[in-house]
Amino acid sequence: MAESAHRIVADGQMELWRISVPFSNGPIEATNCYVVKSGSNALIVDTGAKSRRGLETLRGALAELRVDPREADYFITHLHFDHVGLLSSLAGPRSRIYLGALEWPLAGGRSVEKRGCWLESRLLLAGVPLAEMNAYKRYFSAGNGQVPEGLDVRLVSQDTPITVGRLSLRAIELPGHTRGHMGIFCEQGGVLMSGDHVLFKFSPSISVGPDWQNPLGDYLDSLRGILKGGCLQLCCAHGEPSSSYRERVEWLIRHHELRLEAIVDMVAHRPNMSGYEIIRALDWNVPAGNWEDIAPLQRWCILKEGIAYLQCLVEEGRASASCDDGILRYRVALSHLR
Ligand SMILES: [Zn+2]
Repeated sequence: MAESAHRIVADGQMELWRISVPFSNGPIEATNCYVVKSGSNALIVDTGAKSRRGLETLRGALAELRVDPREADYFITHLHFDHVGLLSSLAGPRSRIYLGALEWPLAGGRSVEKRGCWLESRLLLAGVPLAEMNAYKRYFSAGNGQVPEGLDVRLVSQDTPITVGRLSLRAIELPGHTRGHMGIFCEQGGVLMSGDHVLFKFSPSISVGPDWQNPLGDYLDSLRGILKGGCLQLCCAHGEPSSSYRERVEWLIRHHELRLEAIVDMVAHRPNMSGYEIIRALDWNVPAGNWEDIAPLQRWCILKEGIAYLQCLVEEGRASASCDDGILRYRVALSHLR
């Protein structure tokens, strides 16, 4: 019996285990790595952040489960360091690495540069002062981890089948936290391994980027999709898995809708606010009262999410934006004025 791994499902044909791989990053203390086993085949979902302690924990638990990490396949929900960090220390030449097709560009190269340029111009368009914008540049790709060269990467999208021994699972697109964020669903047991799409301790941050019209709209749609699907057990990447996840998903949808409504109300009373003014005036769940007292990394996350709200309102026709002196200013769309 494994001691470091927690059993979630074991029904003869399938075993599903959770291994909590420690790391420290604010409210997060560990990443859940899931192991799907069927016969002698294994798929490892996410690997945790790179650290000696994390690697020892994961290797130890895999040994207890009699899984050879160099022979296992891997499913990476998204390319943040706390999900892909240990991949290079585990995977072997025969391992298949499943990754979202839209996530792959974040692995490096010109797409990262393109995203940096886009973020820079988007912050300036929002009205963020140049000096403040420059201070955020170091965060533009800070959370990203790397996929090591030479591995057998298989890009997946909605409903791509993934086989583990006699089990057939399928990839599910769960955009929002990152554009190419994926989950993996196992019909047997109704288990959805959902990465950072739904977290119970806090609301996952929403990302923005070039050629992505409505990240928040996509996020909300995929949350609604989970409610409609056959998920019986939600296995998140941080915190305990939950079979009573519906309430949390509904709360997340409502939470974002209330913020969207708050912005519409704000610009109805004060038209022509810039994105920066709107975002600063919103009620964020942070300890500091003044914008300047909020930690820069937290401010950066707030700005990204704020931009996602504004994009969503414009995209859905609830607000309009016009450019004045290089800054986008917002008004309630005529059709939405009461
Ligand atoms: Zn994470």
